[in-house]
Amino acid sequence: MSLTVRDRPSPHHDPRPPGVEVDTIVLHATVLDSLEETCRHFERLETRAASHYTIDRDGAVVRHVPEDRRAWHAGPSVMPDGRQSVNDFSIGIELVNRNDGEDPYTPAQIASLVELISTIRARHPIGFIVSHAEIAVPPGRKTDPLGLNPSLLGEHETLVVGKFLALGNP
Ligand SMILES: [Zn+2]
Repeated sequence: MSLTVRDRPSPHHDPRPPGVEVDTIVLHATVLDSLEETCRHFERLETRAASHYTIDRDGAVVRHVPEDRRAWHAGPSVMPDGRQSVNDFSIGIELVNRNDGEDPYTPAQIASLVELISTIRARHPIGFIVSHAEIAVPPGRKTDPLGLNPSLLGEHETLVVGKFLALGNP
């Protein structure tokens, strides 16, 4: 399967710290109900936030920020291993979803997510897949991607750190 990625650039990024290796993927849900709304949100100067990618319900993939740049998607955050400022060493992927625990993630969306993670793993030594909910500081600040079942990630499930199971399955 080959993934087509369309660019909808966002200004909300800066250089990664020197020498830092990208080893983490952070999964998000947009809360906003459409890809277009999400793109516009990430384009607005006052937003001060963007992920690297957003995946629409139909599986379409949009890139907002190049992977070698630090996108501002996680905010104050800490990994289970204690590392802070997760944006420094992660790639953020948004799924278009209302994040109400009822809006389903579609099969096309999940297929693109699995494929996108494969392409990212070919470029970076990814060791961890985490939810925004489980790394956000203070705990409880974020709940996304609510309702996403990690078993849907197929071969990549082994990289799932774990806590987002509980948060993701209300
Ligand atoms: Zn998020």
